[in-house]
Amino acid sequence: MTIGPGRNGDPKLPEHDDDPAVEIRVERRLDSRTCAWCRNPVPYSGRGRPPTYCSKSCRNRAWEVRSAEARLRRDIAADVLRTEPVREVIRETRFIAAPPEDTEPLAPATARAWLAELEELARQVREGELGRQHWHHIKLYTALIDVVVELGDAYPGGLAYLEREAAKRRR
Ligand SMILES: [Zn+2]
Repeated sequence: MTIGPGRNGDPKLPEHDDDPAVEIRVERRLDSRTCAWCRNPVPYSGRGRPPTYCSKSCRNRAWEVRSAEARLRRDIAADVLRTEPVREVIRETRFIAAPPEDTEPLAPATARAWLAELEELARQVREGELGRQHWHHIKLYTALIDVVVELGDAYPGGLAYLEREAAKRRR
């Protein structure tokens, strides 16, 4: 049975306070205490020094922590371990990626290459999707007319001479 202290620390049981005939002797003895490591109750047999730990493993773990703490204090005192905050040095390396290879095919630069391109355009209009995509046709037509106008401006004698020369060859 656990007996706590009475009011104002009086060891007498409170309910018999007023009866002088009843003498009550209260004896206190340690019944159990909690383990200094795991806080589980450790029963006390009543003989010898009360145990500090419930088990050998709790004693060992407590000892390990104490000795680790002692080692740490010793290392700090010996300046082996520094308690100042960890500082980081950041090395920055910049990698500059080469510009991506130009995947866009180069525009033709010669008359021969342009003729091949225009032949291909004609073929696509004739056989490919371009022939069906009528919403693109006005733009294509306008662009081709612009090219014809530019050719006329560039040719000596202008578009009229160019047309005559072309008709001659067709014959
Ligand atoms: Zn324990």
